[in-house]
Amino acid sequence: MSYIEPAPLVDKENPFEAMMSRFHTASQLLGLEEQIYNVLKTPARQVIVSLPVTMDDGSIKVFEGYRVIHNTILGPSKGGIRFDPHVNLDEVKALAAWMTWKCAVVDIPYGGAKGGVACNPREMSAGEIERLMRAYTLSMIDIFGPDKDIPAPDMGTGPREMAWLMDEYSRTQGMTVNAVVTGKPIVLGGSLGRTEATGRGVMVSAMAAMEKLKINPYKATCAVQGFGNVGSWAAKLLSERGLKVQAISDLSGAYYNEDGIDFNKAVAYRDANKGTLEGFPEAEKISGNDILTLPVDVLVPAATEDVITAKNAAKIQAKLIVEGANGPTSSKADSVIYEKGISVVPDILANAGGVTVSYFEWVQNRLGYKWTADRVNRRSDRIMKDAFDNVYKVALEYKVSLRIAAYMVAIDKVAKTYKFRGGF
Ligand code: GLU
Repeated sequence: MSYIEPAPLVDKENPFEAMMSRFHTASQLLGLEEQIYNVLKTPARQVIVSLPVTMDDGSIKVFEGYRVIHNTILGPSKGGIRFDPHVNLDEVKALAAWMTWKCAVVDIPYGGAKGGVACNPREMSAGEIERLMRAYTLSMIDIFGPDKDIPAPDMGTGPREMAWLMDEYSRTQGMTVNAVVTGKPIVLGGSLGRTEATGRGVMVSAMAAMEKLKINPYKATCAVQGFGNVGSWAAKLLSERGLKVQAISDLSGAYYNEDGIDFNKAVAYRDANKGTLEGFPEAEKISGNDILTLPVDVLVPAATEDVITAKNAAKIQAKLIVEGANGPTSSKADSVIYEKGISVVPDILANAGGVTVSYFEWVQNRLGYKWTADRVNRRSDRIMKDAFDNVYKVALEYKVSLRIAAYMVAIDKVAKTYKFRGGF
């Protein structure tokens, strides 16, 4: 197997530029008015805060935190909070804009936002993470609100962090406000089905795309890059639908087994092994980059941004790419992939199952009512399938990729809302 050097940092595409390049193409095809283009190309609000946190050794460390609200014309802004060493303003800006497009593609009444703190939660104790999350929440107290801006988990955060956020916010309001954040633990008003929602949406859109491409799931092979919340659930649900998941990966590398990887064994191994697949005995270890170029039918990048680049795109062998991560494909790779005839279900469609069930969680919190898992899954599956069909139709009509079609659907909805609301 050939080893592909990771792209040097200078070659890395700025995620905001990657987003803008697709936004630009789709806007031109739509004939978007220049003034609306100008409104949408800049985020509505960008907040940067310093967060002093007492570490376990008694020292005080200052972290930098961000919250970017890209747009709120469709409703309160929505988007996760990322705890990761690479977090920076440009990344958060791109992720916030992607949330605007994502919510518009699946037609839920939210704008887009994203937050993040540059930190390494893997090297922090639970107490340090809790103090950081509480400090972040307090610094955003005027930004967050169930009718204003509603955070959720993203890379490096999960239900535990959302519980701390909800608690800290509620203390400042003098009452319990569970609708201020989604992705909470079930006992705090989290929705059934939210944990697996993003992976489930990846599965639903993969199945819809396979049907169009006439790929028989029972004969199809698959590789899933990333074994966090999105990747592990996508791998499990795709294998339940008949696909043979031949490779999975995490930060420690990639693991390949021609006969298929037993999902339950991989999860059990990871959970008993400090959260890493390192040393997973049921598969051959290969380079982390090689997972992208394996001879499989379906490739699910579910790790992070900018992993499919102009450098490795030509070597991709999959017939279908379903983007579980946000921004896994650089804009320069788009044309290479398109010319190779590979179909891509883009991030703003494929991974929208997470925010869709976040929306259901918020609706349930506001109703003071709980839906069954079956109801959540049926409704989110229908939203994902309808969104896929809508994007597919636009792609055929304009003879563009599913990615550009998804941007067109989203931008058109936002632009129409501006037209009716006016007010500039
Ligand atoms: N962080 C997730 C995403 O990128 C979920 C956002 C949400 O549920 O608000 O879609």
